Amino acid sequence: MKRHLFDEDHELFREVATEFNSRELAPNYAAWDAAHMMPRSMWTAAGEQGLLGLAVPEEFGGMGMADYRFRTVLDEEFAKSNHLAVALAFHLHDDMVLPHLLAYGSDELKTAWLPGMVSGEKVTSIAMTEPGAGSDLRGIRTKAVRDGDDWRITGQKTFIGNGISGDGALVLARTDGGTGRGARDSFSLFMVEKTEGYNTGSQLDKMGLKASDTAELFFDNVLVTGANLVGEVGRGLEYAAGQLPQGRLAIAVASSAVARAIYTETVQYTKDRNAFGERIIDFQNSRFELADILTEVEVTEAYVDNAIRAFNEGTLSATDAARAKLWASERVKSITDRCLQLHGGYGYILEYPVAQAFLASRLLTIFGGTNEIMRDVIGREIAG
Ligand SMILES: Cc1cc2nc3c(=O)[nH]c(=O)nc-3n(C[C@H](O)[C@H](O)[C@H](O)COP(=O)(O)OP(=O)(O)OC[C@H]3O[C@@H](n4cnc5c(N)ncnc54)[C@H](O)[C@@H]3O)c2cc1C
Repeated sequence: MKRHLFDEDHELFREVATEFNSRELAPNYAAWDAAHMMPRSMWTAAGEQGLLGLAVPEEFGGMGMADYRFRTVLDEEFAKSNHLAVALAFHLHDDMVLPHLLAYGSDELKTAWLPGMVSGEKVTSIAMTEPGAGSDLRGIRTKAVRDGDDWRITGQKTFIGNGISGDGALVLARTDGGTGRGARDSFSLFMVEKTEGYNTGSQLDKMGLKASDTAELFFDNVLVTGANLVGEVGRGLEYAAGQLPQGRLAIAVASSAVARAIYTETVQYTKDRNAFGERIIDFQNSRFELADILTEVEVTEAYVDNAIRAFNEGTLSATDAARAKLWASERVKSITDRCLQLHGGYGYILEYPVAQAFLASRLLTIFGGTNEIMRDVIGREIAG
C-alpha cells in the first residue's frame, strides 16, 4: 500500500541520510561492533551533516525541524542498512534527553548543551534506571542534596546508553531527603556533565546493538550547580511523564522500520536460495509466512504513521504512544524471528542482517518501559 506520510523535504533529507550511511557508517560499523564503541568522529560527522538535534531551534544552533517525520526517515535508513546501534545512540540523545531540555531547561542550560548536541561535540545519556529500580522509578535511590546554591549527587545508575562515550547525562535523582519508595514529587532532573566523582563502569556485554556502549554510572558526591537543575525541584517524574509520548513513539517507529527492512531482505534471500530444485520463496509455507509478514508490516506502518501525525499535531497521548510501542515492538519481535527461520542456518549467523536485527529488536519490548508496563497503563485507562 502506498504510504502518504512523507513529502519532498523528507525525501531530500533521506538522500542526505543515505549518503551519510554509506560514507561514514558502512565502512566502519563492523569494527565499532567489535569494539563495542563508536568514535566521537561519527557523532561530529553526523552533526556536520545536520542529522543531530533536529528539533533544536535556530537560536541554539539547530534547524528547528521538530516534525517527527525527519527522525522517522533517519530510523528507516539505519534499519535498511542495519546500523541499528547508531539508531539507538541517536534515539537516547535526540528523543530522550533533548525533549526534556527543550521543554523544561533554562536558557542557560540550553545554551550550555544544545549547540554541542547539534554539532555532535556533546553526546548525552539519559540516566533513570538503577540496579534496584527500572519499571518502578519511584524506587530509585540516587539522591541529590542541597549544598548552598549547588547540589551534591550520590548514587548508581545502570543500563545507560552512551554512558561511556558521552559527555554527561540527564539524571533522575531523589531530592526530598526520603528513603523507601518516593512520592510523585520526591524527584528532580539534573543535567550532569562528566566531572570529578562521575565515574563510568565497564561495558555491559549486550546480546545485540553492540556498537552502542552501555554501562553503569556511579556518582560519588558529584557537585552540580543550581543551573544544572532541569525545571523545578520535585517535578522530575512529572517532566519525564510529559515526554513519554516521544520516547514511546520513537520505539514504535524503530520497530516498524526494522520490520519493513527485514521483510524486504527476507524476500530477496528466499528468491536467491534454492532447495529441492525450487526457490525457497516458491514453497507454499514461505509464501504464506511472507504474506502474513507483509500484512503485519503494512498494518504496523499505517498505525505508527498515524501516531507520528498525531505527535506532530500535539495530540498523541502517553497511552496512545504506549499502544503504538506495544503493537510495533511485539510485531518486530515476531517478524524478525519468522524471517530468521526462513533463512535456515544462515539466519543464525551474525554476518546476516536478520540475525543482527533479531538480537537488536529483542530490546524493543523491554526498554523505554517494558510491554507489561505498556499493558498496565493502557489497561488502567480502559478501567477508568
Ligand atoms: C540495552 C538496554 C539499554 C537501556 N538503556 C537505558 C538508558 O539509556 N537509560 C535508562 O535509564 N535505562 C535504560 N535501560 C533500562 C530499561 O529501560 C529497563 O531495563 C526497563 O525499564 C525495565 O526495568 P528493569 O530492567 O529494572 O526490569 P524490572 O522492572 O525489574 O522488571 C522485570 C520484569 O517484571 C515486569 N514488571 C515490572 N513491574 C510490573 C508490573 N507492575 N506489572 C507487570 N509486570 C511488571 C517487567 O515487565 C519485566 O518483565 C536500558 C536497558 C537495556 C537492556
